Amino acid sequence: MQKRRVREKSMRLVMKFGGGAVADGEKIKTVADLIGKCKEEGEGKESNEMVVVTSAIFEVTDILHENAVRVAKEGNMEKVKEFVEDLKKKHEVAASEAIGDKRVLNVVKKEIRERVGEMEKALIGICLLGELTARSLDYIVSFGERLAAPILAGTLQSIGIDAMHLTGGDAGIITNEDYGNAQLTRTAEETIRERIMPLLDDNKIPVVSGYTGETKKGIITTLGRGGSDYTATIIGAAIDADEVWLWKETEGIMSADPEIIRNARKIPYISYAEAMELSYFGASVLHPRAIEPVMRKRIPIRVKNLLKPEDVGTLIGNEPEVTKKAAKAITLIENTSIINIAGTGVRSISDVAARIFSVLAAGNVDIIMISQGSSERTISIVIDSAQLERAINAIQSINAGVIRDFTSNSNVCAMGVVGAEMAGTPGVAGKVFSALGKEGISVIMISQGSSEFNISFVVKKEDAYKAAQAIHDVFEMGM
Ligand code: ASP
Ligand code: MG
Repeated sequence: MQKRRVREKSMRLVMKFGGGAVADGEKIKTVADLIGKCKEEGEGKESNEMVVVTSAIFEVTDILHENAVRVAKEGNMEKVKEFVEDLKKKHEVAASEAIGDKRVLNVVKKEIRERVGEMEKALIGICLLGELTARSLDYIVSFGERLAAPILAGTLQSIGIDAMHLTGGDAGIITNEDYGNAQLTRTAEETIRERIMPLLDDNKIPVVSGYTGETKKGIITTLGRGGSDYTATIIGAAIDADEVWLWKETEGIMSADPEIIRNARKIPYISYAEAMELSYFGASVLHPRAIEPVMRKRIPIRVKNLLKPEDVGTLIGNEPEVTKKAAKAITLIENTSIINIAGTGVRSISDVAARIFSVLAAGNVDIIMISQGSSERTISIVIDSAQLERAINAIQSINAGVIRDFTSNSNVCAMGVVGAEMAGTPGVAGKVFSALGKEGISVIMISQGSSEFNISFVVKKEDAYKAAQAIHDVFEMGM
């Protein structure tokens, strides 16, 4: 009983550190010191309970991805050896810089060698077969996080903190077999609780490899790019954390990209629904699925700035903010293409739409926006330009009796205006489009979701920055 009372004053936190935060040994050391400080900040006699989630070292996921593809294509065994050696070096150097305690360093270095050895075996297999499946790609890219976690845990141990590293699977992140974008199984939460809680009761800090999971059969999966945020919120929800802190090298969630909009400012508070709209619409603040686990349990997320740890950052919570601002943020997705598809008129528009969407889904094309005029039998969709070729191939496969014609345009930019207050506030759309009109910008396509938290539209690429600034100004987002 006594213990519980003291406990209530301290917090149970999940903290996630992104790739930039653990970019090298020195940064990993800084992160470890920060973790130590946060742990001791608990009030009362007991320190905070903490779970740490780490990303791969900066750019390592990209490097693994590129090399796996290259090895399968080129089949050059020499290059495999070279690549494996470089990757091992990179992690050993980081470990040596971060870990002061010789004994701990030796253990970690041994772990690095073993893991890199496993990876080398897989790459040799991929090289010989010249084939890279989604399953083997997930296995290869998982090494980024699976190498970073031992280094961070070792760094914590080296400064006297009782930490241990876990893979996503060890931590109970049990998923289906949807490689590259795996979904949590229904019983995973329970497993996570069973695996993590005893460690917290022992006053240990589990350091979990983000982004990765495991199927019931023990095969490694990943949760989609940027998935470490998602790992953190999944664990946060499973263990009923008080808060989930996502440490980034940015101020928090911003009203616009500060590189484009000069007076962009940090948003101090944003609701789950708004943050979700933002992450779906190109603001690379959060993994799009990261909000969902904590939303159910109303656990707040804080996006914290590593460069200013005292700053409160951006708080993401359940309640809509009481604000006069109808729109809070403007985002843009720069490399987008619009495809206009005209039906033949022989079939109903629902039938045409059904065929289009099913071939696009089969071709793994993600749709950013859809719009359809009522009089014309034309459907417009916006996609990432990187998927344009796939989309065109998919649409060409539809039988000629369905589609009359289609065109595409890559010289466009999709933009989204986000704010919960837009729902039910008359005149917001008017304000958006008259601001664009005043600047002489013509709008190519418009859509508004029924949540009304987001108005999205498409403009010519060359108009995008001017459009963003005009909207940022008219809604006074910078104030
Ligand atoms: N390392 C993974 C990625 O780059 C996951 C993450 O950083 O959240 O996508
Ligand atoms: Mg990353």
